[in-house]
Amino acid sequence: MKCKCGKKMEKVTVEIEGADNRAVSYQCPSGHVEFEKESSAKVVKELKMKESPLKIKQKIVKLSSNRLGFYFNQNIVRSLNLKAGEEVYISVPDKKRIILKFED
Ligand SMILES: [Zn+2]
Repeated sequence: MKCKCGKKMEKVTVEIEGADNRAVSYQCPSGHVEFEKESSAKVVKELKMKESPLKIKQKIVKLSSNRLGFYFNQNIVRSLNLKAGEEVYISVPDKKRIILKFED
């Protein structure tokens, strides 16, 4: 890939604070930098997801006989790093909310 100044650009992977995804950039010896669209869009999307609280609509499922439950969506599992067997505290502040809290 050639830079707008005519020099050869080198592919450099850039780590961005707060993001697990890495952005791919192209840099020339004169200091011009261009970010690859696809990878930088991924980073931006990831950062946005982390900033805004997740709000996901899910259905309550019947587990067995009269027991109800729901599954943790993959996004929640990943962003909170949840593992099977972990304990949570459940509180019900009002009729519209259930709060799950993990031990510190
Ligand atoms: Zn250049």
